Amino acid sequence: MSAAGSSPAASSSTKRLEGKVALVTGGATGIGEAIVRLFREHGAKVCIADIQDEAGQRLRDALGDQDVMFVHCDVTVEEDVSAAVDAAAERFGALDVMVNNAGITGNKVTDIRNVDFAEVRKVFDINVHGVFLGMKHAARVMIPQKRGSIVSLASVASAIGGMGPHGYTASKHAVVGLTKSVAGELGRHGVRVNCVSPYAVPTALSMPHLPQGARAGDALKDFLAFVGGEANLKGVDVMPKDVAEAVLYLASDEARYVSALNLMVDGGFTAVNHNLK
Ligand code: NAD
Repeated sequence: MSAAGSSPAASSSTKRLEGKVALVTGGATGIGEAIVRLFREHGAKVCIADIQDEAGQRLRDALGDQDVMFVHCDVTVEEDVSAAVDAAAERFGALDVMVNNAGITGNKVTDIRNVDFAEVRKVFDINVHGVFLGMKHAARVMIPQKRGSIVSLASVASAIGGMGPHGYTASKHAVVGLTKSVAGELGRHGVRVNCVSPYAVPTALSMPHLPQGARAGDALKDFLAFVGGEANLKGVDVMPKDVAEAVLYLASDEARYVSALNLMVDGGFTAVNHNLK
């Protein structure tokens, strides 16, 4: 894989999700879009579920075939999540992979005395309750199938403090707790439940947290400096595709004995560098 995160396109013999059906929340842009594109490359039929209708429909049209659909879905609204799961399962005949990717950070105030609590509730509503609803409705379809893989997006903020606003950190720790709890229950039904924890990836979510005056061309480097350090791994700029590759692994049968895992995609940062800060 190159520094830009590109890898050779999957050939028919290396397609790892052939015949599988996947739903990706927050799939219209950012990391979710990279997951949708990679899943399509690997033969999955994909349902993009997002609140951004225009971006979602544009991506569906860009992928341009019968095996991609878009549904409007706000992950905080149970009827939306339930309907999105049903729409994917009805159109494509099953639901093999549920990716709970939609998430927000909230503002960057880290002084607990000034935290806007309405915003903390909103972060929890999307990052935690949205994941909860995704698991609940995916399980409804996956349990009778006796198979399935649920992958949720956590963050390095799921393992350590100081990587974002307090509400964001707490919400991502909760994603790991939820992953372990639901994995324990669904394992007996043949359904695996995991999460992926990326370090800073350049997307609409991370870019607003750049310090003022950051140079656009050096945005990722400046963002890393802002959040408190560089990833451990040198010579690689982490891109949305790198995160998508980890999600692909957990979604695929190659990970058939992997469950309740929080897979760090952080170049070793959490384990190696954090204590040096
Ligand atoms: P992004 O802002 O680029 O994209 C998020 C997507 O989620 C958007 O398409 C947005 O429309 C959608 N979305 C937001 N609220 C929604 C809702 N209520 N219902 C449905 N869709 C909704 O963000 P991203 O960087 O691609 O982040 C994706 C996930 O990865 C998030 O869970 C985030 O916390 C996690 N993550 C990101 C980074 C990073 O540095 N970018 C690092 C660690 C973890």
